Amino acid sequence: MRQIRVGDVTIDVAIERDGPWRKPEEFFPMFDRATFDRHLPSMEPEVYDTATGKMVMTYQTFVVRTPKHTILVDTCTGEDKGHPAPFDFPGKERWRNELFALGVSFESVDYVFCTHLHIDHTGWNTTLRDGRWVPTFPNAKYVFHKGEYAVWEEQHKKGANPPGTVFRDNCLPIVEAGQALLVDDDYALDDTITLTPTPGHSPCHCCVNIHSKGQRAVVTGDMMHHAIQCREPDWSVKPDWDPKQSAVSRRRFLSSVADTDTLMLPIHFAAPTAGLVTSDGADRFNYRFKRD
Ligand SMILES: [Zn+2]
Repeated sequence: MRQIRVGDVTIDVAIERDGPWRKPEEFFPMFDRATFDRHLPSMEPEVYDTATGKMVMTYQTFVVRTPKHTILVDTCTGEDKGHPAPFDFPGKERWRNELFALGVSFESVDYVFCTHLHIDHTGWNTTLRDGRWVPTFPNAKYVFHKGEYAVWEEQHKKGANPPGTVFRDNCLPIVEAGQALLVDDDYALDDTITLTPTPGHSPCHCCVNIHSKGQRAVVTGDMMHHAIQCREPDWSVKPDWDPKQSAVSRRRFLSSVADTDTLMLPIHFAAPTAGLVTSDGADRFNYRFKRD
């Protein structure tokens, strides 16, 4: 994604991996081939690789620079985590190199927002140093939703996996280091950065709004993973915590931004990533990349 400007704010990405990734039939329990094929011509060509039959998906962090703060939203899968496949993909240094190429050092990050506390959104929260997981960004506050953290804490105590090591290695060390801000739905960092609750994919998933000079963009986390979910908003994904609630949140959110100039920044959408939502009748939406 090329740099986006929203009023006084700039938004860039640091990518961990991109390219063809998952077959839709393995990811959407409601998948129907005829329906998918019917929608394919109405979706942007970058979102699906016809040669492999895989959706093209990216793992990336949004780097948001306001006049006051350097903010990262979601931190991919991270390094040295020992994750199982498919999250053990090699070449994690790409992310670090892209971040540094933007002129962002670990020390210069003021805030890290996690839309939710999953394996691929919290990875670079911590790095391994002398056998211990320590905050990667020594001067940052990390914003976690209080309710989400509480559910994962409870699940972790019961030995559930997920969240398993994701809670233990990516979240708990941040709280123990005193760098976490455990917040509610209505949290606002300032006039520029606020949250919109979109629960379902995880217990308290939130989108992160960026407002400046009358313009708005939203990092939508995993509220949707792929453009097919604009065509079929009820198609929740296999890893959803509550698939019904996820669909309700998605429909509500897409309705609220459709046919407006609110720029969407979905974490897993392939480049050019940022785009606008338009309505298509009462039930469906289209996703159009911003290409200028
Ligand atoms: Zn994700």
